Amino acid sequence: MNKTEGKKRIDKLRQEIDFHRYNYHVLDKETMDPFILDNLKSELFKLENDYPDLITPDSPTQRVSGEVSEKFQKSTHSIPMISLFDAFSEIDMYDWQERNSNYLKRDFKPNYYCELKLDGLALNLRFEKGVLMLGATRGNGKVGENITTNIKTINSIPLKLRIPKSQELKDIGLKSDEIEELFYLIEEGIIEVRGEVVMSKKTFNEINLRNRQNDKAELANPRNAVAGSLRQLDSKVTASRNLDFYAYDIILSTDNRILERGEVIRKRDVADKLAGILGFRILKDNNVCKNLEDVFKFYSKVEEKRDNLPMEIDGVVVKVNDLKMWNVLGIVGKAPRYMMAYKFSAEKAATKLHDVIWQVGRTGALTPIAVLEPVKVGGTTISRSTLHNLDEIKRLGVKKGDTVIVERSGDVIPKIVEVLKDLRLGEEKEIKTPNTCPMCSGRVEKTGDEVAIRCLNKDCFAVNLRSISHFVSKSALDFDGLGPKLIEQFIENGLIKDASDLYSIKKEDLLSLERFGEKKADNILELIRKKEEASLSSIIYALGVRHVGQETADLLAKLFKENNHKNNYKITDISDYFSKLDEEELEEIEDIGPKVSSSIKEYFKDTGTQK
Ligand SMILES: [Zn+2]
Repeated sequence: MNKTEGKKRIDKLRQEIDFHRYNYHVLDKETMDPFILDNLKSELFKLENDYPDLITPDSPTQRVSGEVSEKFQKSTHSIPMISLFDAFSEIDMYDWQERNSNYLKRDFKPNYYCELKLDGLALNLRFEKGVLMLGATRGNGKVGENITTNIKTINSIPLKLRIPKSQELKDIGLKSDEIEELFYLIEEGIIEVRGEVVMSKKTFNEINLRNRQNDKAELANPRNAVAGSLRQLDSKVTASRNLDFYAYDIILSTDNRILERGEVIRKRDVADKLAGILGFRILKDNNVCKNLEDVFKFYSKVEEKRDNLPMEIDGVVVKVNDLKMWNVLGIVGKAPRYMMAYKFSAEKAATKLHDVIWQVGRTGALTPIAVLEPVKVGGTTISRSTLHNLDEIKRLGVKKGDTVIVERSGDVIPKIVEVLKDLRLGEEKEIKTPNTCPMCSGRVEKTGDEVAIRCLNKDCFAVNLRSISHFVSKSALDFDGLGPKLIEQFIENGLIKDASDLYSIKKEDLLSLERFGEKKADNILELIRKKEEASLSSIIYALGVRHVGQETADLLAKLFKENNHKNNYKITDISDYFSKLDEEELEEIEDIGPKVSSSIKEYFKDTGTQK
């Protein structure tokens, strides 16, 4: 995308995000899935990062969410409570690391501290001389609501900091001068502890059960339940909600100076342990990761156990572990460069439709398949989805180049559920129905209403399946583990039209298919990769031409190479070439007689490109 196109897309994204924000926050109407809105904001952020001079103060990326209620006293934060940028894929995470490297003008691959991303309400707790003096909500980031009375009902929040033993501080890696300084700050200075208030799934369900029994409205989700519970004017209600608090940041101050990040406490993992020592609950899953690959392992592990955790989480917060780097990296727009919310994927996501290809099924019917910008949805990255038929294309009103919402639940194949037509730039193209069969190039028939298109060659699918199946069979290239069932699935989903297409299958193509997981996809790709090196002559042999054994295949390969000077041969090139040779030309080759040459002619007669 060049800058002019980037600007157009940025304008459209801003309009769209703002429209749905207005509907939701002003008119109380949810007109777009919040997760899709996050997708669009994330795309906008990336584009603005590519073209920083296009950032305007009214861009949705510059907005700080949250409001301050008049019900409570206002409380200004010592340093703002920032929000986070979101990542949804490994690519997003690599991009983030690269942006930081570019910003620092050096290769930046730090250790990261990974923390569970709790889905609750952020709080700032201010301890003066070790005593809890103030508890405030995040509010608009700069000013929050003073809800100290309610906060004091939360049993996991100490009213007074626990005084540590020197040895405990030594054990987490603090040096003696740092320990001395810390004791001073606990006893004489100001320690602010920031963290998240959460409601356990168990309490949430109990409250809703009780509300149902008493004909009261049910709480929408644990996060809303926490917000509602904390912002009560009657703290008895708050107390009855069994809320929990987990710390995620510590800010140290003397009475006249906020300490720099990295001063006294140098690492984020040490700060987390310190919170535990000072009397807070900490999350045992939080961990240091040596690089992004480790972060991805941590993320997968947490995503797996997510349902078994006592509270709701919606991702992992990945922080640069070296706190000194926090100042160096700083903040861009409304959020910091030094941490990222790596969110779990929802079952829906917004992405771009690049192209539509047509595949031929067993009955000869042609089905349109959408080729998508790879996107993570329902836990896996996908690049294709079925569009069923022309009716479905008309119903959705989808065009090439559109931004679409894809949905995937469980093992079901992904499908396009909506087109975001407001994001169109006018360059999108109508989806045309093919005039010839994409597999055999033969004639196709459209029925009156044009819902179904059919290849008129009744052997089209079977011939193709048979020839690709032979290609991978034991007697030819021997793709052990790639049987006719899989070949059929690949053809039916438009992944391959002939055997050479096997070599261009991508992982996200496989993950878009039914009953395909990471492991199965990896195994298949490994299998294909191993056969990539097969020589031209074994490929010709694998085509399964009658009377063409390995030796004849060697001769044909030699002839082909003499007349085709290319580095990469597609099987269609081979077919094209041999379909144009006549029997005499073939018989000029030593060892090829009339029987073999007529068999070769016969084979390639139907497989060459038909016009
Ligand atoms: Zn056909």
